Amino acid sequence: MHRRSFIKTGILGSMAVGFISCTSMEKSHIITLSFDDGMKKSFYKTADIFEENDLHACLNVIASGHLAGFKLPNEYHTDPRGDFNDWNLLRKRGHEIMPHSWDHSDLTSMPPDQAKEDITKCLEYFEEHLEGFKASEAVYNFAYNASNPDLEQFALSKVRAVRTGGESHVNPIPLKAGPVRFCCSSYGPDNADKWVEQQINGFLSSRGGWLVLNLHGLDEEGWGPVSSKFLNYLLKRLVKIENVEVLAAGELLKRSMV
Ligand SMILES: [Zn+2]
Repeated sequence: MHRRSFIKTGILGSMAVGFISCTSMEKSHIITLSFDDGMKKSFYKTADIFEENDLHACLNVIASGHLAGFKLPNEYHTDPRGDFNDWNLLRKRGHEIMPHSWDHSDLTSMPPDQAKEDITKCLEYFEEHLEGFKASEAVYNFAYNASNPDLEQFALSKVRAVRTGGESHVNPIPLKAGPVRFCCSSYGPDNADKWVEQQINGFLSSRGGWLVLNLHGLDEEGWGPVSSKFLNYLLKRLVKIENVEVLAAGELLKRSMV
């Protein structure tokens, strides 16, 4: 069992401008559970569980994942994918659908121009196929949370925020308009229930900030799945804690625009 090791990237100096520390008016602990990859069964189930708790799910999908000819990145992508009919339906139900790459390539392992073309192609596909999608308000979620400052800067010229791997999965809460780079962590390939519980408990006993955990499928699907029972239990527990709020990433970022 391995904790995914992330490519470390330096924090872009200019990105820090959008952050100020939390005020007493805000919840001190914001939690985002950021689900990747677009497994059809898991994403509907995740949405159902979030709805049951009056929350919106944060769902990130691969632009070309449903297309014939999509090359499976590895054995954790064999479960049936949803398509943009599904993503539009889930969006209409109030859930957040954000880009998780064009075809799940590791952009840091290809020539920079090609990597940038992939980002553009992904965002154009979303604008064309996901109702109401605006790149300027979007979060671009790098495949494998692999990025570098050049690719982050390029993506941030088109989107509001990028999610990547990094030194800490606890980020400052963004309270101002402007580009945002935030980090997350993830666990797999086995069941991640215990790991999630540990990260959440550690965060709840801290001073707070914005915790971002990158999850994937439910039960048996995808890399490092959580069980649906555990997810429901966790959300039911979290919504009762006064200083905690569970939010989709874009939902939180939207608040910092007003
Ligand atoms: Zn992925």
